[in-house]
Amino acid sequence: MDPPRYQGLRRKLVAHLRAQGITDERVLAAIERVPRHLFLESGLWEHAYEDRALPIAGGQTISQPYTVAFQTQLLAVEPGCRVLEIGTGSGYQAAILAEMGAEVYSIERVRELYQRAKALLQGLGYLVHLRWGDGRLGWPTYAPYDRILLTAAAPEVPDPLLQQLAEGGRLVAPVGPPQAPQEMILLIKKDGQLHKTYHGRFRFVPLQ
Ligand code: SAH
Repeated sequence: MDPPRYQGLRRKLVAHLRAQGITDERVLAAIERVPRHLFLESGLWEHAYEDRALPIAGGQTISQPYTVAFQTQLLAVEPGCRVLEIGTGSGYQAAILAEMGAEVYSIERVRELYQRAKALLQGLGYLVHLRWGDGRLGWPTYAPYDRILLTAAAPEVPDPLLQQLAEGGRLVAPVGPPQAPQEMILLIKKDGQLHKTYHGRFRFVPLQ
């Protein structure tokens, strides 16, 4: 299921991401290890290691590898971090986070995607907590989270997510209108206050 040819393509992808300015070695190592093709329909495997977004079920997309790397780097994930992801999609980003040693919680609104990601991540041996539901409400049971990552765009970050962010925690989200592009923002919670910085324009499917 992971032929040497794909391993070679992953190494090339990592070299490309490095050239594009990704510097977090743990992010790059995770991208080199996770078999992205398995998160796609077999008809798309040939394209799995190109730096582009690709269609998945439910009219959704698996984010472009550069975007995954960029968001993950901005999130500054450390082993043992409790991370909440909104928009499981294919499960690829969740696998990257798990590969980096995070304790991952991820919510998906499309049932079919939730079910597929669950089976796939389990099959690959990743221990992630998945939930089918509306990510705008967060997942209060396991809050607070050290890191929160939105992989779908909203005009603003839903309030419950801000509340479920731990003190000292980081939240990364594409913010803006449903018609892309949106702006990538990083929020850091310090002494109960949120500090916002802007990190460039990206294209995401809308948070619904
Ligand atoms: N992280 C994914 C990318 C998925 S694209 C991956 O690695 O493949 C964004 C995902 O967010 C889509 O699957 C979409 O169905 C989901 N989504 C949109 N609105 C949502 C909501 N309110 N709650 C949870 N998931 C949502």
